[in-house]
Amino acid sequence: MEQKYELLRKYYGYSAFREGQEELVDAIMSGRDVFGVMPTGGGKSLCYQLPSLMLPGVTLVVSPLISLMKDQVMALDSMGVPAAYINSSQTAEEQHSVYARLRAGVLRLVYVAPERLETPGFLSAARETDISLLAVDEAHCISQWGQDFRPSYLRIPAFINALPARPTLAAFTATATPNVRQDVERLLGLRSPLRVVTGFDRPNLRFEVLRPRNRFKCLESLLSARRDKSGIVYCATRKNVELVCERLREAGFGATRYHAGLEEIERRRNQEDFIYDRRTVMVATNAFGMGIDKSNVSFVIHYNMPKSLEAYYQEAGRAGRDGSPADCVLLYSPADVYTARFLIESSNENPDLSPEERRALAEQDLLRLEKMVGYCETKNCYRGYILEYFGQPHKSSCGSCGNCAAEYESVDATREAQMVLSCVIRARDALGYYLGQSVITRVLMGGRDKRVLGLGLDRLSTFGLLKGRDRVFVQALFDELISGGYLVIRPEHKTLEPTPKAREVLFHGGTVTVRMRLSTVAPKAERAGAKPSHDRKNARTDGFDEADNDLLDALKALRLSIARDEGVPLYVVFSNATLTEIARRRPKTVDDLLSIPGIGTVKASRYGRLFLDTVSQYPG
Ligand code: ADP
Ligand code: ZN
Repeated sequence: MEQKYELLRKYYGYSAFREGQEELVDAIMSGRDVFGVMPTGGGKSLCYQLPSLMLPGVTLVVSPLISLMKDQVMALDSMGVPAAYINSSQTAEEQHSVYARLRAGVLRLVYVAPERLETPGFLSAARETDISLLAVDEAHCISQWGQDFRPSYLRIPAFINALPARPTLAAFTATATPNVRQDVERLLGLRSPLRVVTGFDRPNLRFEVLRPRNRFKCLESLLSARRDKSGIVYCATRKNVELVCERLREAGFGATRYHAGLEEIERRRNQEDFIYDRRTVMVATNAFGMGIDKSNVSFVIHYNMPKSLEAYYQEAGRAGRDGSPADCVLLYSPADVYTARFLIESSNENPDLSPEERRALAEQDLLRLEKMVGYCETKNCYRGYILEYFGQPHKSSCGSCGNCAAEYESVDATREAQMVLSCVIRARDALGYYLGQSVITRVLMGGRDKRVLGLGLDRLSTFGLLKGRDRVFVQALFDELISGGYLVIRPEHKTLEPTPKAREVLFHGGTVTVRMRLSTVAPKAERAGAKPSHDRKNARTDGFDEADNDLLDALKALRLSIARDEGVPLYVVFSNATLTEIARRRPKTVDDLLSIPGIGTVKASRYGRLFLDTVSQYPG
């Protein structure tokens, strides 16, 4: 078998390339520059890692973030590939030891931040090293048109010129907009590169937009339904991050937080808590995530709308990297549009730009924002909307996103409507004046707060009639009664009053139906009129029974203890997708194990015995 397939099997445990990977690997091996544009999670790293195993010299990887390097090196290490990084978090001795291994030719890959290229020490080491390939990760950082401009990326070409021989150049990004792509090619000086732009679709991601009346409540119920899962909650501001994180902790969730205003030491600790699954929910601003290769992130919830679809897709794309089904939910409120506008207007203050350039950037950002709002408000397929934006053909309906899979339910709410109307009237009879919607709601739901008790409303015969009912349903019922003209809100005091039409429902057999959209991501318990149920806990596909679940739990426990022992994140041992396959297939031998995606020879020999033992204790 050809060497690249052998290495793919041996180190990664994969039997096939993903879209675009093979062409990129082949071009690099033939000495041609390449430019790969692939979505987050598309498998970019393999495109330069695999060649690094076959090329004579070392592969230098320019990567923007320390956390990213650390992760990648850890993952390579677990696969048995000699790799290292050089960055400012290391002591001088640590750096020297990397330089020594570099000179000795034992490293296949070395990761560095772009700033490092300019230091004399690194340059002199690089000049004495045979560098076959220079890979530029997150290459859009070189463009001012991109989201994360990093001026030091602009100095990569000067570094290359200072080398005795020009290595092959390979650039990768997930940003697909044309002006960013042109910038990358031009500024990096790629020589007639092989351009590969792969499909941007991520079929395992389910997209949904919700418009909650109470964002936090909505978040809470989404998280409650995902207690055993790991995910990210993105907020627009640091303040929101702190508030949301704190409230989640109060509500008993294992949440942690991340934003640029925190001390470096706290950021690092929180990030690790999340990556190592000590905390399952990361509440963060968009400062968190670039380079976070945590493959078992099973949901990304946006508490606020991001400012562009590029940003949204990149952030949401951090879910489901291991290929398991994952949810990307955006909690939308039209008020977000103002916040986003404000952020755009106050962020384009880059002093290196002329006023015209700044204006052009702001204009472009506003256009992006408009497209983002369009996404939130579209009645069509969410996935289709995203792919359209990235210029990719798509089906008109994906069948799985919130809009495509939405079910509507018409609930007969006549009895409940009568309760509401008579509660409004009785309160008025008791007090001599009408009340607002929120007090009436509390009375109906049996709330014993100060106001209700103070007015003696707990003595009304309608008190508590809707106790325990779903709030979303109750709200929808009020909406229906108001829009249907049974109740009006008086503008002066916001009091709720019955109209003559209310009599139809109360006395003449009129009926009221509430039509509710069933969310594809909200748990059934949250759905209107539905009884609580727990059937969404395991959204696993066919052929997975109770026994498999028990085994899977045991495999996860084993993975956890290995990861703790070795001080690596869970997914570095095995991804969820790999564990699920083990539970499904119940391998008996090391060879059986090797046929499972994600298990290469190194991992099989390191962990195989332990996992096989566990499997043998659970005969299917
Ligand atoms: P990107 O850098 O493009 O965001 P990664 O390189 O981190 O994506 O890859 C995402 C995930 O896909 C990783 O868990 C990786 O192991 C997996 N992956 C990459 N290539 C393949 C492949 N050929 N077959 C199966 N899984 C793959
Ligand atoms: Zn769809």
